[in-house]
Amino acid sequence: MAESNFASLGLRASILRTLTELGYETPTPIQERTIPLLLAGRNVIGQAQTGTGKTAAFALPILEKIDPARRDTQALVMTPTRELAVQVAEAIHSYARDMNVVVLPVYGGAPIGPQLNRLERGAQIVVGTPGRLIDTLDRRSLKLGAIRMIVLDEADEMLKMGFKEDVDRILGELPATRQIALFSATMPPEVLRIAQRHMADAQRVEIEHKTMTAPEIEQRFVNVSEGQKLEVLTKMLELEENDAVLIFRRTKTGSAETAERLVGRGFAAEAMHGDMNQRERESVIRRLKAGKIQIVVATDVAARGLDVEQITHVINYDIPWDVEAYVHRVGRTGRAGRSGLATLFITPRERKMMREIERFTGLVIKPMKMPTAADVAARRVGALKDTLRKTITDGDLELYLELVEQIVEEGNEITDVAAAAMKLASGSKPVTPEPIPSAEVRQESGREKSFDRPPSKRPPRDDNERKVQLSMSVGKRDGIRPADVVGSIANEADVPGRDIGPIEIRDTITFVTVLEKDVDRILEKVGRARFRGRAINLRVAGAEATSRDKPRSFEKKPPRRTKR
Ligand code: AMP
Repeated sequence: MAESNFASLGLRASILRTLTELGYETPTPIQERTIPLLLAGRNVIGQAQTGTGKTAAFALPILEKIDPARRDTQALVMTPTRELAVQVAEAIHSYARDMNVVVLPVYGGAPIGPQLNRLERGAQIVVGTPGRLIDTLDRRSLKLGAIRMIVLDEADEMLKMGFKEDVDRILGELPATRQIALFSATMPPEVLRIAQRHMADAQRVEIEHKTMTAPEIEQRFVNVSEGQKLEVLTKMLELEENDAVLIFRRTKTGSAETAERLVGRGFAAEAMHGDMNQRERESVIRRLKAGKIQIVVATDVAARGLDVEQITHVINYDIPWDVEAYVHRVGRTGRAGRSGLATLFITPRERKMMREIERFTGLVIKPMKMPTAADVAARRVGALKDTLRKTITDGDLELYLELVEQIVEEGNEITDVAAAAMKLASGSKPVTPEPIPSAEVRQESGREKSFDRPPSKRPPRDDNERKVQLSMSVGKRDGIRPADVVGSIANEADVPGRDIGPIEIRDTITFVTVLEKDVDRILEKVGRARFRGRAINLRVAGAEATSRDKPRSFEKKPPRRTKR
């Protein structure tokens, strides 16, 4: 695979900096081909679907072309749905964070007044659905006179939805100097006709997929929303026996974040990406081979050529850019004649991309049932019973029998004593795990049908109910007990005890769940506290600490202690 970088495509330094901050390693194939053409002023017809990085392929050239010092509208992006309009506007906004530009989404189903006002105040980039764009044009709020670039995103969908006349009209009213980019997953005759009429000299960019043979290992997919991925991943890791697992993310920041979150959930995981030098990457691989870590979360660049026999599972947490990348990724398992399993996480918009992979590899990627909380519970119950049975057979229980007798003599039922002991033994893995959140699935899958309704919002949740898990880097080994955790948070941050918990104390790390509304105060008051001389590094589980408070000591104000 040829490897280029964003700088060689001709992008300016401030945008390159932003891309580095976003964790992008290399341009995707569609970006590599399209960006130089658009920067050179050509009209481009790109055949690409969601998941290929097509948004940045047109957004970055737009940002190069516009003059932020002028307030008039200089770029227009047309999308078939308001959801896509909002998503594209957000993406452009994220690429423009070092620039002073206004990116305005306009779409039907929402009151037009505020959109007109904002247009009149000036927006250099407007992203909208064709019908609403025509409305704003007719009311003279949207002006096309200064437009330098126009993008038709998902052109096939737009025409399928009956926007042909609107698209024709807008393209017809543009100044002659405008540049057009058209992106479409398929190229039906109507799309080609629009292209012929308005962009005769266009350069066509198609990422030709090589037909490839993927290794003969079991391949499956699971439908998820972005927000569900981490939960599904952790449940899979817990449910399926594995030796070593390789997880793929698209960005360096993504790989670091997922690795951190897994560590926060008690897995031995490390990131491997392009910001790490060869020596660092080799040391990650050595630890994986030696079984010191179980999971590596890598980017494509970092995992190229990785050959580790122990890898039993490849998980495509983010879908790969193309068929070739997919084949490379899944080829990291099933090494040395061993069996392997590859799983692909698919969000609703990425289904076409998966069909493409199937088409060019001849594979059938089978649906996988989403692991449920009940599956995990069953597995945990089974494991707990096994441990218990084994402990009974192993014997050597005299000391504990004596303890049981004492507690029974105090008037406790023996079954209650046994149940309490099992609860203690289940420790950090309660037998009823948290269910997978489902809100975002509804939001994304509603996309096609919801065009005429107001933009979908997440179902309102009571902020007082929302919970956040915090972690601290002290655990059983340091002698910390639940009462210490509750005591410190309750005393220092003035949070009622009933709002603290559950608490999981593992060997070297402790998790405590608190209400979201209390998080800032807790981090501020307790974030840098110490327990028996050790910094507790309290932080949102899997994230960096945010508090810069001075160190405090737990011991200065002793927490409520229970009698041992
Ligand atoms: P799209 O196909 O435009 O919907 O983009 C899919 C996802 O890929 C988005 O989440 C982008 O933020 C991300 N993305 C786009 N280009 C790159 C890149 N070169 N490297 C890493 N991630 C990218």
